[in-house]
Amino acid sequence: MGLATLALIFTSACHAGGGVSTAATADSASIRRDIAWLADDAREGRATGSAGFDSAARYVAARFEALGLKPVVPVDSTCRSACALGYQMPYPARPLASRHDAAPPPALRAQNVVAVLRGSDAALANEYVIVGAHLDHLGRSSDFALDPEAKDAIRNGADDNASGVAAVLELARLFARHPARRSIVFTAFSGEELGLLGSAWWADHSPVPLASTRAMVNFDMVGRMHDDRLIVYGVATATELPGIVDSANVAPRLVVSAVGDGFGPSDHSSFYAKNLPVLHLFSDLHPDYHRATDDADKINAAGEARIVAFAERTIRAIADRGAPLTFVRAPAPAPRAGSSREGSSTYLGSIPDMAAGTVPGLRLSGVRAGSPADKGGLKSGDVIVELAGTTVKDLYTYTDALYAHKPGETIAIVVLRDGARVTVRVTLGERGR
Ligand SMILES: [Zn+2]
Repeated sequence: MGLATLALIFTSACHAGGGVSTAATADSASIRRDIAWLADDAREGRATGSAGFDSAARYVAARFEALGLKPVVPVDSTCRSACALGYQMPYPARPLASRHDAAPPPALRAQNVVAVLRGSDAALANEYVIVGAHLDHLGRSSDFALDPEAKDAIRNGADDNASGVAAVLELARLFARHPARRSIVFTAFSGEELGLLGSAWWADHSPVPLASTRAMVNFDMVGRMHDDRLIVYGVATATELPGIVDSANVAPRLVVSAVGDGFGPSDHSSFYAKNLPVLHLFSDLHPDYHRATDDADKINAAGEARIVAFAERTIRAIADRGAPLTFVRAPAPAPRAGSSREGSSTYLGSIPDMAAGTVPGLRLSGVRAGSPADKGGLKSGDVIVELAGTTVKDLYTYTDALYAHKPGETIAIVVLRDGARVTVRVTLGERGR
């Protein structure tokens, strides 16, 4: 999950209840095995374009093939008929953060993994539902890491997002056993941590007609469920989705928080931008997010199996229903004045405390050594409540307030420190400098 657009997590709309059941039982042991393999140090944190990512991509392709799923991407992208098909979708990845560099680095050689399970109903098999998750993580880079002090440690991303890929693999197994009426495209993306690059390419170069694609269901961080809580984003992107999500939540019920918007900090956004109904399943943040401590031994595999069973019912309802979903273009959250989040290079160097829950403001778990925040005197435990005159309520308002200013500007930041309001002056830096 990209750090810059993470704040949406702080908003949750309503709680859903009631429903019918089909007994899809997900295999928690299989889920745990896939996460352990994908999040093993040998995959070196699966950075896009790395050898570790490539071996993880081959693993996923081999799993798809073993389940009987078919390749769908022409091996030769210029081919127009009778094409040899493969499971890998190669593309050039140009990280957002470096696009504005005077001499941007060459594109990374990257790929998504894609496979299709043909639908059982001749009349509906030419319609599709996409089920996906990002496979990439931070690798050994401390860019976007919340523990820069761990330097080039391997960040295995067991929850972010080996858990999502394991969910996709388990759903592929369940549907291969009992295909839905419509066809389902299962996919693992790369480039998510670099700015949703793989899913954006996928949506622009779709191997199946988007005009006959009925929905996209995304899994990003579903391995650390606690208190049976699951957040489902995107329910307002089609009229029927709240009811479908409600009906899929059978006993023993999950505590589902259904949130409307289809734009958010993960790959479903790339498909919502193509006017597709989307859902994003998320079991919430935890203190290991984007740290070298996000390891497989902390995964709640039994909890994830329940999420997968819930998702199987949701996806089957969408893929089996007679009529397509009714797409709803919920207005994207209005970008605040001057806030161009994508590609902004303004840098402060604060490290948000992801376990701080709902304190008003943004609590810091630390600052990067030598960063503008460090030089300005911000420190661990500070709660930022105002940035350059703008009230900071959460990560969302903080991110917008920060990106409304340019590198080199000196601004006042007000923090709560030991109960007192303290103002510090900081000269903003530029990311990557
Ligand atoms: Zn993620």
